[in-house]
Amino acid sequence: MSEYRLLINGELVQGDQTMDVINPATEETLATCPRASEAQLDQAVAAAKAAFPDWSATTMETRRQAVNAMADVIEANATELAQLLTQEQGKPLADATGEVYGTAAFFRYFTSLDLPVKVLDDSDGRRVEVHRKPLGVVGAIVPWNFPMILMAFKLPPALLAGNTVVLKPAPTTPLTSLRLGELIKDLVPAGAVNVITDANDLGAALTAHPDVRKVSFTGSTATGSKVMAGAAGLLKRITLELGGNDAGIVLDDVDPKVTAPKLFQSAFQNSGQVCIAMKRLYVHESIYDEMCEELATIANETVIGDGLQQGTNLGPLQNRMQFEKVKTLIEDARRDGNVIAGGESPDQPGYFIRPTIVRDISEGSRLVDEEQFGPVLPVIKYSDSEDAVQRANKSSYGLGGSIWSSNLDQAYALAEKLEAGTVWINKHAELDPGIPFGGAKQSGLGTELGEEGLDEFTQLKIINMAR
Ligand code: NAD
Repeated sequence: MSEYRLLINGELVQGDQTMDVINPATEETLATCPRASEAQLDQAVAAAKAAFPDWSATTMETRRQAVNAMADVIEANATELAQLLTQEQGKPLADATGEVYGTAAFFRYFTSLDLPVKVLDDSDGRRVEVHRKPLGVVGAIVPWNFPMILMAFKLPPALLAGNTVVLKPAPTTPLTSLRLGELIKDLVPAGAVNVITDANDLGAALTAHPDVRKVSFTGSTATGSKVMAGAAGLLKRITLELGGNDAGIVLDDVDPKVTAPKLFQSAFQNSGQVCIAMKRLYVHESIYDEMCEELATIANETVIGDGLQQGTNLGPLQNRMQFEKVKTLIEDARRDGNVIAGGESPDQPGYFIRPTIVRDISEGSRLVDEEQFGPVLPVIKYSDSEDAVQRANKSSYGLGGSIWSSNLDQAYALAEKLEAGTVWINKHAELDPGIPFGGAKQSGLGTELGEEGLDEFTQLKIINMAR
């Protein structure tokens, strides 16, 4: 028996099986929670399908009220949700609190949007209208780095557009989603929102389910590609927000002392487990040594620990698999470059790795070429900024990137050449619900957030009338 329940057809139910959720800061079992069976997945999809006709027939205003009420309930329970988020995900409590309030803010942002009918022609001969219709049942699949806010990219716009939803969090961070299901259960009709959990075994079935019309997926590029294949048979709509290997390019005219803290934050926030974290840093040779020293100093001063402890700057890696992967990348990097800060795990339980700075490293090393998704940053020397952009563009990823310079014109010219869904200038990884977000190349397909992020949960329908 667990205190957590799945949400299926408006009812809180036990899973057919259970699974343990580990606190990554202690490696102890935090909770035992339900694990849905494939039969329960089918029930959730069936409930969402049954709820769709009525829900899609409600007015936008009714749906706005429901989504705003969800934001209220998230805010009202922010303290509890943030604690739970820290315990299951690892991030410091202040960051978890920010994520929870951010989640409520994202819900509210979407309620400010509308899906008006556009009239393309209203002449004597004809009237042509463009409508945006809901799709049906949406499968929303979320990873473990930001379990709450990434859910908020999907659930509110899907519901506002008139769809019903089956939400599936990642196996290692299911608790905040289950608690959310409990909190919002009475704010929508039974079946409009369902929350199920799995042990990495239901994502494929949810994707391929014949009654799921759209899959909104955030996760790795490898899994995104499986989602695309799984959705192909029935030509489902998909939105894929995938991995990245964002480059930051620092020109010769910045002050390392002023810029290093911003670069550090861009790379190490959430212990580097951010899709749009800065994952490769290119620094001009004239300031390279000084920048490396500044970054190493900040890394050495960073306090890592249990996110519930006051004063913790960075928490652990979220799960053992990621912990082992990042340690392997660091061992590889020792051969290819010089580790000047971090590189070790403290002698204590928990998936901790000290923030690690690697210099004298270049392309051809796994740490530069692959997505590390952890607290380790390769700092690469360059001499020509055009060449740095070319090198940055060699990646198969294209999620984000940034240019750092006091010459905004020069930075802008380089930003135009960087192949990425978002390019920041003198900042990195800023997300805003009103700004569309999506990846170039193998970092994704489609758009989340902004008006475009709402449109993705709709199908265009044209009514073309002769008169
Ligand atoms: P993952 O791909 O392993 O898992 C993501 C989700 O997909 C989980 O809920 C998982 O259970 C589910 N899943 C597993 N197999 C599936 C299948 N065959 N079909 C459908 N769903 C399946 O990713 P992860 O390791 O949890 O997350 C880390 C990755 O996510 C990183 O690559 C990171 O860059 C990326 N990410 C991208 C964004 C973005 O917006 N672009 C945001 C956050 C994370």
